[in-house]
Amino acid sequence: MDNRQNYNGLDFFRLPAAFLIIAIHISPLTSVNAEANFFLTRVLARLAVPFFFMITGCFCLRNQDKFIRQLKKLGLLYGFSILLYLPFGIYAGHYKNLSLLLSLRMLIFDGTFYHLWYFPACILGLVITRLLLKFFSDKEAFWAAGILYIFGLLGDSYYGLLSRIPAVSAIYDVIFHLFSYTRNGLFFAPVFLLLGARIKKEKKAASVGCLRNCLWGFFLSLLLMTTEAFTLNHFKLQRHDSMYIFLVPSTFFLFKLLLLWKARPARQLRTVSTWIYILHPAMIISVRGLAKVTHMTKILVENSLIHYITVSIISLLISCCIAACSSVFSGKKRSLNKKGRAWIELNEKALKNNVEALLSLLPEDCSLMPAVKANAYGHGAALIAGKLNQFGIRSFCVASLSEGIDLRRSGIRGEILILGYTHPEEFPLLRKYHLTQTVVDYAYALKLNGFGKKLPVHVAIDTGMHRLGERCENLDSVLKIFQMKNLQIKGLFTHLCAADVMEKREQEYTRNQVDAFHHIVAALKDHGIACPKLHLQSSYGLLNYPELTEDYVRIGIALYGVLSTREDTENLPIPLEPVLSLKARVAVVKPLYEQEAAGYGPAFVSDCNKRIAVITIGYADGLPRSLSSQNGSVLINGYRAPVIGRICMDQTLVDVSHIPHVKSGDIAVVIGKSGQEEISVCDLAGQTGTITNEILSRLGSRLERVVI
Ligand SMILES: *Cc1c(COP(=O)(O)O)cnc(C)c1O
Repeated sequence: MDNRQNYNGLDFFRLPAAFLIIAIHISPLTSVNAEANFFLTRVLARLAVPFFFMITGCFCLRNQDKFIRQLKKLGLLYGFSILLYLPFGIYAGHYKNLSLLLSLRMLIFDGTFYHLWYFPACILGLVITRLLLKFFSDKEAFWAAGILYIFGLLGDSYYGLLSRIPAVSAIYDVIFHLFSYTRNGLFFAPVFLLLGARIKKEKKAASVGCLRNCLWGFFLSLLLMTTEAFTLNHFKLQRHDSMYIFLVPSTFFLFKLLLLWKARPARQLRTVSTWIYILHPAMIISVRGLAKVTHMTKILVENSLIHYITVSIISLLISCCIAACSSVFSGKKRSLNKKGRAWIELNEKALKNNVEALLSLLPEDCSLMPAVKANAYGHGAALIAGKLNQFGIRSFCVASLSEGIDLRRSGIRGEILILGYTHPEEFPLLRKYHLTQTVVDYAYALKLNGFGKKLPVHVAIDTGMHRLGERCENLDSVLKIFQMKNLQIKGLFTHLCAADVMEKREQEYTRNQVDAFHHIVAALKDHGIACPKLHLQSSYGLLNYPELTEDYVRIGIALYGVLSTREDTENLPIPLEPVLSLKARVAVVKPLYEQEAAGYGPAFVSDCNKRIAVITIGYADGLPRSLSSQNGSVLINGYRAPVIGRICMDQTLVDVSHIPHVKSGDIAVVIGKSGQEEISVCDLAGQTGTITNEILSRLGSRLERVVI
């Protein structure tokens, strides 16, 4: 279980969507009722293709790798389908007298066989929208796609409306020279691809109110679209009937509804629906042929409903076979087991508990601004910030620009403050990703201001740590920073560097820092400057000086349920729980006989017959190498297994002689509990002479991170 939204509802709807597309090509209700058939095939079924566009936009538009992969996949499927339908097309005389222009038009816009326009439309639409998003803001891209869609509408369902105007009809004459319909990758697809991408970005949490709104939205837009379609049809305005105004909101709300549906996983339906789509025309032709040979045309073809059901069932069966074969061929490699080698488990309950415990220390008007820098102290920034977003937290701080961008790309909302230095060449990215930059001193403020466009910032004041921030005695410089035109100053802060120690000297030091900060704040007020949000505390500041809270507390290590040292963690005034456990697998269990050596060096020589286990974690995963040779241990089946020999880059040897039944595949706990035993991150920090912050923040990127 990870933080991702449940997209399974979308997978489920692929199947009905595929059947709707078959309905378009068979018109199953013609032998029943013409109006009903019109509603089914020209209104309801029109939702199917935009729905597939939205899925593609949702998963492939914002991610470079997925975008490329999707283009390749669509290209392959299109190529295969072209070949598959080549004989049918030749038989039907589609490719007679083909000029170069006509073949290009067929290949890029119309598709080489009736239904195959979808693949080139999706490819072209993806390329266009990707370019739009690259060169324009999201809003501008939407406008562009909207205008294209309107252009398409006027060549499709609304053709009769303006085509009587000679100038307009002249334009469309030229256009229809280039392609037969406007429902293609240029006019039709972009709007839906962008809508899909937007929904992915929103990642809205489901709520009952949201469900009701979406249901209302869907039925209302569908009603309007039905009215629209019947009216246009009545006045014979349609040249073609794929595009409607209310198709856009109808598909949008349908998509949102499907996202709210927490269905079980059904990934195979992706393959099944694709193949139904590709194969159904061939099945239509086959069923007709078969009916002719067996003299059953009356039942199998002329009864449109039976014809439809027969084609649907055969298409479904063959597509299921293809999906089954393809999953056998691709094997199980697709689903990487996140707990296969070495992984971090994040305890969501503990995180929530910590947030609540810390919030209880804050006055009403003060909020947490969690520090999720260094990959959220090794925990996994996107997962942690995503959960915190769900808990209602709306501001974060990170160390660097790239960390901020990563959070935005994974859909984190709210203010993200970069505490560190950002190179001036990268200032445009601050705007692009809506990140807030720290003003690290007066000279840097000049550079930020010189960028020429408005940038949201927090101003750092150096009150004694002598790291980042304008020195607190330079009041003039601070005032000048506040006069800079392009700086939108949203916050003012300092960092306490002795709040962790409650000795007399450190308390005095802290007091001086706080006074210096308040002095600046007072001076700003004296100069008539409305003070922005203030913050000066991190974890130790909050715990040791709870009375000093201002607007934010930049909570770091405490949020993760520990403090920097064992003593501090044991003396916590509020109940915090560690969020993280670190686990790995036992790869091999084998004997090590008396006088044999093990590991590099070979540093370890056994003084008796032993059993040893090889654990799938090493210093490249962040396990400190200084835990080698009996300094450290892991827990297996509730027993302690001491490390022997030197910790390797990817593996570690442990002594399991005293532990019954250890076997390959067992779990070794590096940080966390097993049975009655526990190894805390404080233990590791103590054994290696450092603080928990360092151990945690160095946990490697190769570790999988799983929320439990
Ligand atoms: C890292 C950091 C924090 C968070 O510190 P903790 O001690 O982990 O709570 C707060 N403020 C600044 C400026 C930081 O760099």
